[in-house]
Amino acid sequence: MKRLGPLDLYRHLPKTNCGECGEKTCMAFASQIIERTVKLTDCPYLKGSHLEALIKMTSPAVRQVVFGKKSPVKIGGEDVLYRHELTYFNETAIAIDVDDRMTDDELLERVAYVTNFSHERIGQELTLQAVAIKNVSQDPAVFAECVQKVAAKTDKALIVCSFLPESLEAALSVCDDNPLLYAATKDTWEQVGGLAMKYDCPVVAFADNNLSELKSVVHALQSMGLKDIAVDPGIHPENLSATVNEFVEIRRVSMNEDDTMNCPIIGIPAACTNPMEEVMSAALMIDRFADLLIFHTTDMYAVLPVITLRQNIYTDPRRPVSVDAGLRTFGTPTKESPLLATTNFALTYYTVASDIESSGLNAYLLVFDTEGLGVEASVAGGQLDAYKAKEAIEKTQVKDVVSHKKIIIPGMAARISGELEQISGWEVLVGPRDSSGIPEFLNKRWN
Ligand code: SF4
Repeated sequence: MKRLGPLDLYRHLPKTNCGECGEKTCMAFASQIIERTVKLTDCPYLKGSHLEALIKMTSPAVRQVVFGKKSPVKIGGEDVLYRHELTYFNETAIAIDVDDRMTDDELLERVAYVTNFSHERIGQELTLQAVAIKNVSQDPAVFAECVQKVAAKTDKALIVCSFLPESLEAALSVCDDNPLLYAATKDTWEQVGGLAMKYDCPVVAFADNNLSELKSVVHALQSMGLKDIAVDPGIHPENLSATVNEFVEIRRVSMNEDDTMNCPIIGIPAACTNPMEEVMSAALMIDRFADLLIFHTTDMYAVLPVITLRQNIYTDPRRPVSVDAGLRTFGTPTKESPLLATTNFALTYYTVASDIESSGLNAYLLVFDTEGLGVEASVAGGQLDAYKAKEAIEKTQVKDVVSHKKIIIPGMAARISGELEQISGWEVLVGPRDSSGIPEFLNKRWN
């Protein structure tokens, strides 16, 4: 399995610590290369074949493919099979499909849905990435007209989908936004590969439920000089475990540094016959390494679980999602209003904040810096103890904000209450374990 550490790379750097790359030392530069925040070409002393060798050495196990000019979508680019081994870099992109048989109203409504989709969850904006245009009519002219209409109405990246090379060519002749070409097969790889070369577009290789055929198509495309290739091993809704096993096999091969199949994987839940099946297959595919999904259903009950799952899987395990520590106000609190406390783990914070807001309470909320950990974990791990809580009370000068000296800590932090009371001089009330109980707690315990 390919895992490169900063030291592996440092050995090949000039080691002069000149700082011309913007980093203080060559070791810092090596660390940032691994984090992908800088490029090897930022060091002016790396040149020629040495630079090329280092680029190859640091390239991800799964090739990163980018499509779309106005809103580029990066797919693949992963270095590990499982997130906890390092992190994932590019979340699964989600495209919504349209087709060239749709009425203008239906087409533009779906395009607007993708373009304007925005859902906020734990402080992050979740969006959709692309529109996949299908050539249902099988008519190149109709397809080109449809692609043109879609391209004129959205900044989102496009995937042009047809098994007819002539339809793909017609689409490419009216769209210069670097769309993803779907798809080259064992019968069309030469023509579709030629289009990918001519228009400089990434291309998808497709073989239905046949990995050796898929590998041959990829190999044939690579032999033409193409590098930006994604793969679709097909989907069989009646046998999803077989589909997912193929995804896993492809990704395992990539991790073993097999350059033939180091391609991002595309899944098409849109091929399912009903929304429930579509959501289930999308969830399985996200869980098993899909880099791009083409989805059909636009009902929120179907899209929301999929983008939520994606967000959960594609957070960086090395950096818990956190919010800034400090004092927040809710409603229009006065000096007599209650002072609640929680941690800066984003999921905890937004749950507590939403419970306070939805109850219409006027209150203060002191957010402890627990390095992004939740209440239970931070109390157990020492990121939240009586001394750190006291420090937060003092640092935020909350004594000047309220006229009382009472703080309500989360029920799960009950064990720090006695010590905090002793060292801070504040009365510490132990609140509910679940923030949904805050209104009832205040009703009974806050005078
Ligand atoms: S520019 Fe090159 S040699 Fe200088 S510190 Fe950066 S990595 Fe090292």
